Amino acid sequence: MKLKYDNFETQAVRIQNEKTQFAEHSTPLYLTSGFVFEDSEEMRAAFAEEKERNLYSRFSNPNTSEFVAKMCQLEGAEDGFAFATGMSAVFSTFAALLSSGDHIVSCRSVFGSTHTLFTKYFPKWNIETSYYTIDQVDEMETLIQTNTKVLYAETPTNPGVDIVDLELLSRIAKKYNLLLIIDNCFATPYLQQPIKFGADLVIHSATKLIDGQGRVLGGVTVGRKELIREIYLFSRNTGPALSPFNAWVLSKSLETLAVRVEKHCQNAHELAKFLEQHPNVNWVKYPFLPSHLKFEIAQKQMLLGGNIISFEVKGGVHGGKTFFDAIQLCSLSANLGDTRTIVTHPASTTHSKLAQEDKNAVGITDGLVRCSVGLEHIDDIIGDIDRALQGIKKG
Ligand SMILES: *Cc1c(COP(=O)(O)O)cnc(C)c1O
Repeated sequence: MKLKYDNFETQAVRIQNEKTQFAEHSTPLYLTSGFVFEDSEEMRAAFAEEKERNLYSRFSNPNTSEFVAKMCQLEGAEDGFAFATGMSAVFSTFAALLSSGDHIVSCRSVFGSTHTLFTKYFPKWNIETSYYTIDQVDEMETLIQTNTKVLYAETPTNPGVDIVDLELLSRIAKKYNLLLIIDNCFATPYLQQPIKFGADLVIHSATKLIDGQGRVLGGVTVGRKELIREIYLFSRNTGPALSPFNAWVLSKSLETLAVRVEKHCQNAHELAKFLEQHPNVNWVKYPFLPSHLKFEIAQKQMLLGGNIISFEVKGGVHGGKTFFDAIQLCSLSANLGDTRTIVTHPASTTHSKLAQEDKNAVGITDGLVRCSVGLEHIDDIIGDIDRALQGIKKG
């Protein structure tokens, strides 16, 4: 499924399964668990993988294949596999490629469940993780051991919106012969393509901006063919496959990814500038604000600043509570990357399971607000957040 057009928008819209005899314009939904064979020879050849074809939807399905084909083109990847959720993509990628005794070096600020995987579950299989702090990225070399296999990062990070330098990561991964795996969920391939900088694999939670409308869960890993082959074999036997229905929704969603993400970023940038001069806000972090510590790296590796802003309201826990209770338009939810603007309190929700010292290490303070800026009119978003901030007593 390759096109002769290489512009992002055209690929996202036009990569499509072959038409059926009904000459439909939009890809149909293939709700089928299995596929049939003409005769015993065809069945034998299919199972021997002599011919690429669908056997069973735990392995592949036309809807998941279309979604994966688009994601590969958009990320500049050779191959990919689609998962039921972002977390099953993260878990299966590591589980397929690592063995007992291996070691991961990861940025400290990772998605909450990824952190739980690294600290609670992987150690059960004798896979240990060492964390580097974003600001000390140059020192990550000191964490690399003889058994280190993977260098891992999210950028921008959740919930801190820190930026990790992809070029630097790639240089270190090459020097020590490590697999570089990037969770590109916050950026989407529209804003950032880690493979261009040297990543071996890119992981997404498609639940976020790829669906973009808060409807379905999904995940995908794309990258080097021989690595995807291992991930595919692991997954076809363990069963984390994406459902055809969700794949169909996600493939359709990719058609509008560019326009949606562009508008998300425009709204987020305006809100970030507004928050930066607000008297009841201590600080704001947004990758495309010159005040961001990694502004120049963000400019180098991202097209726009993304839709996530983190900021700290004045007044600690009390300020945070006052702010969240006064919000009317924005949603109080743990999700992100929706058309609807969402405000989250990481300290008491998504990252509540982190020990206080881990919270401190990744900057999750009591007054921290993570805002996933949506597609409502910017005046209404700013109006709601401003009104909620006005309620906080200066402290
Ligand atoms: C949400 C998220 C995940 C997990 O995705 P699910 O689809 O919820 O399983 C992983 N990484 C990041 C950065 C996320 O934001």
